[in-house]
Amino acid sequence: MRSSIPRTLKSLAILAAALAPAGLSQMPSPVPSPTGEVTGPTAQLASPTPQDPTLTGFTAQRASWHLACEQRFLELPRSESFREHLRTITENPHPAGSAAQARVGEYLAQAMERAGLEVTNYPYDVYLPELTDDVEVHIVTPVAMQLSNREPALPEDRFSGHPDLLNGWNAFSGSGDVTGEVVYANYGRREDYLVLDSMGIPVEGKVVIARYGGNFRGYKVKFAEERGALGVVMFNDPGFSGLDAYPDGPMMSGQTIQRGSVLTLPWTGDPLTPFVPALPIDGDVQVERLDPSEVPLHTIPVLPIGYEAATEILSRMTGPDAPPGWDAPMEVEYRLTGGPDLTVRVRVNQPKRLTRATNVVGTLRGSEFPDEWLILGAHYDPWGFGAIDPNGGTAMLLTLAEALGELASDGECRPRRSIMIAHWDAEEYGIIGSVEWVEHLREELEANAIAYINADGAVSGANFGGSSSPSLKGQIIEATKAVTYPGTGEPLYDWWLARAGEDAEEPGLGNLGGGSDHVGFYTHAGVPSAGLSSGNPSGVYHSNYDNFAWFERFGDTTWVHGPMIARVDGVLALRFANADVLPYDVARYATDTRTHVETLYRVAESRGLEVDFARLVESTAELDAAAAELVAARERWVGSGEVDAGRAEAVNRALIGLEKAWLNDRGLQGRPWSRSIYVSPDPFSGYASWMLPGLRYEIETDDRADLPGWERVYIGAVRELAERMRGVAGMMGEGDG
Ligand SMILES: [Zn+2]
Repeated sequence: MRSSIPRTLKSLAILAAALAPAGLSQMPSPVPSPTGEVTGPTAQLASPTPQDPTLTGFTAQRASWHLACEQRFLELPRSESFREHLRTITENPHPAGSAAQARVGEYLAQAMERAGLEVTNYPYDVYLPELTDDVEVHIVTPVAMQLSNREPALPEDRFSGHPDLLNGWNAFSGSGDVTGEVVYANYGRREDYLVLDSMGIPVEGKVVIARYGGNFRGYKVKFAEERGALGVVMFNDPGFSGLDAYPDGPMMSGQTIQRGSVLTLPWTGDPLTPFVPALPIDGDVQVERLDPSEVPLHTIPVLPIGYEAATEILSRMTGPDAPPGWDAPMEVEYRLTGGPDLTVRVRVNQPKRLTRATNVVGTLRGSEFPDEWLILGAHYDPWGFGAIDPNGGTAMLLTLAEALGELASDGECRPRRSIMIAHWDAEEYGIIGSVEWVEHLREELEANAIAYINADGAVSGANFGGSSSPSLKGQIIEATKAVTYPGTGEPLYDWWLARAGEDAEEPGLGNLGGGSDHVGFYTHAGVPSAGLSSGNPSGVYHSNYDNFAWFERFGDTTWVHGPMIARVDGVLALRFANADVLPYDVARYATDTRTHVETLYRVAESRGLEVDFARLVESTAELDAAAAELVAARERWVGSGEVDAGRAEAVNRALIGLEKAWLNDRGLQGRPWSRSIYVSPDPFSGYASWMLPGLRYEIETDDRADLPGWERVYIGAVRELAERMRGVAGMMGEGDG
């Protein structure tokens, strides 16, 4: 709508010719046909593309076609486009449920349609707080003082005085008006409350003050409420960054406030419709909704403040000293209780109701296997403007959609499988839009979805990193070899590896945990998932200062890292989309599983628990063997050059099915919605990932009795996975030789 994107390769070539410094190629490179022949008048100009030995799952002919298309693709993501999309999307605050968010949704749909994608809106009616920020916090005695809960407008930041900005608030707080004495609970982790319990310090009837960090904020509230607290005030911990506070630098000031959801339910997504999609109430299909009174939502009032306001409370506390390690770096003597003279009032009025949330999904239809899907997505709802979280990722995804649409526009390079670009609504209130979509399309996703790549807040600066499920790791690492790190001329891979530590054999790629839109795909539907991003230090998380003014000065200031992530995501998606046989990194299942068992041993040791997982470790040898068999069969088959589409389709279906060996319909302890027994969010802290969570839970709750049963469940899953791998290897081996 606002940016003028060249529609065809030809106009791009003209534009490139106009912009390119002398000596740069002005024409897209010729592309061999999908079968490898180079045709047309440019054929004689094509230098033969050797088959890249790391291009897994491709026949030589297909590889040469793919690599030529990949080279073309790498030229297409544009900085100006990335900047213009981000500027437009973040012009106004647009939290889920606002009119501004509906307008952003329309903009996303139009941009993707213009890029050549088929766009579908997926509306849901979900239970959300109204967009009110009717909250206040006071010191009542010994002085009467209302504490600030809004970032002040700054002359250096033209966005910070926007009339639609809200006070600091926490979604899924209870409503209430309470006044009481104060208890300091450190991070409000399970272990912090246990310390308070052990010291005989009652939380009941008190207002808890806790610092952000250490866990998902909802658990600070959950544990406080379980102990009978009246309310909770959470404050930003400034930490020690060495960098200046905004607006002089990128970090938080004493008045920066972190908003955020405090929802803690044993399922993710809409609070009223676990397992089923919250289809619109005015639609054809009616789903059953829980009554809100049946859902364990928090009932006590909760709100966030900055550390200056927190200092007003903490500096007036007179009780016993807090234990070592409980001090945030503010000049305060940290104490556990405020004493009888200090009282604090917290008032929150937060009505909730069914609210329309709309996911916007664009599809670039695959030329040969349109029902096999690569899904790249990010939420598009922020707390305020959301330049970093989430819309750096949103603008990158639009830039990627344009590049892929451009690539496919002349037919030569249309991906063989479908690539979807998804923009999720209502993530910030509890990962709601994406989870409803996963529940809506669960059967299709289990059968069709090759991978989900998350891009929540994926771009805010120069530091590349990621986390992934095992079977995508190899291809992520390979994709970074094809992409140049801006300003260096070197592959991103080299930049990344150099930061992995002295003796590292490969770049550091973490395990995916909780906290964003991959949760539904990965832990509920068993879709291999990853998240890749490139960021800078920032202290404006979920504050009104996460806006375009911050981003221009401290984010991706030269607009090159957005296109870089678009290239990595695009190469990754295109390789999976175009391969003859899906290039999953199947050997990682065994190595990663053994690493996770090591972690379980360490956790058990730290809790003084003796455990023995020898049989589980032994069973992974079977996985190694099966993976080796699969890899060899895949190499033999593509090496033969004779991969017919029909058999490949069956093989690829079976490959998509591998990850489902980890799904268990009974789910995890107390969490039937968490169907993956391979990974889950930590049920006691929320954000961190638990690997092999069925076993981890028994260890963390010091309960050895059920460990043997759970070990059998895991051995069963490992055997099932090995069985499935051997099955796929066999399908590829048939007719060989
Ligand atoms: Zn986000």
